[in-house]
Amino acid sequence: MTGKELNAQDDCIFCKIIAGDFNTDFVYQDDYVVAFDDISPQAPVHTLIVPRQHVINLEDNPDPELLKHLFSAVSKVAQIKGVNESGYRIIQNNGRGAGQTVFHLHVHVLGGKRFSEGMA
Ligand code: 5GP
Ligand code: ZN
Repeated sequence: MTGKELNAQDDCIFCKIIAGDFNTDFVYQDDYVVAFDDISPQAPVHTLIVPRQHVINLEDNPDPELLKHLFSAVSKVAQIKGVNESGYRIIQNNGRGAGQTVFHLHVHVLGGKRFSEGMA
């Protein structure tokens, strides 16, 4: 465990994944984030980018430095997953009303299919 993971929450599935408890394959990782494929993919490519630090969502006062690394990882993951040229969509849910079900900040990277032009 590195210093960035010291506030890991015992009851948080993503903290456990980050700690390696399930031997999850990481698509990408650096000092700030890890990325792994969603267990219930909603598109041919559906990867989650998750900060190593346990932050609930954007309302939990995340460090701007962490957000910089989180969003910098998006393009890297898109390249690794081969959707950087075809296009990809990112989704990031904040709170139950937005559909957040895992309360550890994460960005969904979805690709490998044609998306509708609307958002809903
Ligand atoms: P949210 O709805 O919070 O924005 O997204 C949570 C995502 O985490 C969902 O798409 C769900 O399928 C995924 N997820 C939940 N538990 C696990 C797990 O144990 N492993 C992986 N890889 N994904 C998970
Ligand atoms: Zn967590």
